[in-house]
Amino acid sequence: MTIHQNLIAGEWVGSDAIENINPSNTGDVVGQYARASVEDTKTAIAAAKAAFPAWSRSGILERHAILRKTADEILARKDELGRLLSREEGKTLAEGIGETVRAGQIFDFFAGECLRLAGETLPSVRPNIGVEITREPVGVVGIITPWNFPIAIPAWKIAPALCYGNTVVFKPAELVPGCSWAIVDILVRAGLPKGVLNLVMGKGSIVGQTMLDSPDVNAITFTGSTGTGRRVALASVEHNRKYQLEMGGKNPFVVLDDADLAVAVEATVNSAFFSTGQRCTASSRVIVTEGIHDRFVAAVGERLKSVVVDDALKAGTHIGPVVDQSQLKQDTDYIEIGQKEGARLAFGGELLKRDTPGFYLAPALFTEATNDMRISREEIFGPVAAVIRVKDYEEALSIANDTPFGLSSGIATTSLKHATHFKRNAEAGMVMVNLPTAGVDFHVPFGGRKGSSHGSREQGKYANEFYTTVKTAYTLA
Ligand code: ADP
Repeated sequence: MTIHQNLIAGEWVGSDAIENINPSNTGDVVGQYARASVEDTKTAIAAAKAAFPAWSRSGILERHAILRKTADEILARKDELGRLLSREEGKTLAEGIGETVRAGQIFDFFAGECLRLAGETLPSVRPNIGVEITREPVGVVGIITPWNFPIAIPAWKIAPALCYGNTVVFKPAELVPGCSWAIVDILVRAGLPKGVLNLVMGKGSIVGQTMLDSPDVNAITFTGSTGTGRRVALASVEHNRKYQLEMGGKNPFVVLDDADLAVAVEATVNSAFFSTGQRCTASSRVIVTEGIHDRFVAAVGERLKSVVVDDALKAGTHIGPVVDQSQLKQDTDYIEIGQKEGARLAFGGELLKRDTPGFYLAPALFTEATNDMRISREEIFGPVAAVIRVKDYEEALSIANDTPFGLSSGIATTSLKHATHFKRNAEAGMVMVNLPTAGVDFHVPFGGRKGSSHGSREQGKYANEFYTTVKTAYTLA
């Protein structure tokens, strides 16, 4: 099998490879992917540093053309790349293709943003002096991504980094290097100069840590676990570099007595279980007022009967496998913990056998949970959710906000008063009314608050806050 190599200083290099395994069928090897060493990573950082002066001054039309071509190729190959995504990560083919389209749209959006770079000119408070405010690229940006969105997250970090004139050292998650390799290959063929984008696949503790420790990485954008995010933060403070973190969530979904039951059930099943619950915006705390509680739980149970868990690539599958053995163990451990804590496992939670060996888990729904249980406080990152029964809206809001996290928060209600109040008072970066907690647009800001996030927002035009630095220039007329 050929090795998909790293891209360092414009050359494809690397012979030390690991297998990329399909979680729907562990006998299926998606490909061999190189692992970068400390030395490789240092060379990549030096190459990005060397490429920065020229790239930061490159014409906006050159950047526009490269991002535009990349968008076009990703969109033209959406079925093939979506299939690769589903094969390496385990989300369904429809989800894989959908995510691929989104990656294409993100490149298209930032191709446009290159042409809309703007500053401000103002008069000075002193006579005969003009003030110009401009945005400049930050320098070498380190990009560290997780496994759960193998193409969209790399796209929403790489596209703005390049658009605003930064050079990049990109380290994808070890479990899903396939889509990352594919988009780097596309970008290079679209015309990126050598060294502008470097791909260093491999271990977090080796490749990622070398990026964290380098004084030549001027900014790091990270999506992943809370623990690693903390390491990124501490190392970045040490080097006085810019950093942006997207970490965990424990997103609440509130269902009020006046909710449209069908809307509430659909949003809950989507939030909690689609993409196998492996989204940082997934909801794992469903907070339900007592007047609708029993009807709602019964309806979710009924809906789950028609949900098919199977091979991600099979037609008719609604939920694919868990990503790997260690994540599966984490999920089943939490299912055990929830039962020991006294919650009732109302549906699912059992391992499933399918035609191929894979990490199949029936979506698990707990009832009679309380907000102080570990299953209500800690991020599980699997198809496991718990229903918490509450008296009224006020109690629901207070429980929704009683969490160390603050990424996304949802509510199902037909009351304008409650919807409006919830939008204002939910302690989260994103609020959803009668919609799942997950599922966001690519042209508007994405991110959270409290323990979920740090730094400025990602995506849309707000991305420029992270990928640029502001300069204020004064000129005597
Ligand atoms: P998850 O548990 O979702 O895999 P991680 O935070 O472990 O979350 O991984 C997210 C990304 O961070 C991955 O690309 C991983 O390789 C990387 N990573 C892990 N450890 C480190 C580290 N010490 N330094 C830098 N990056 C790391």
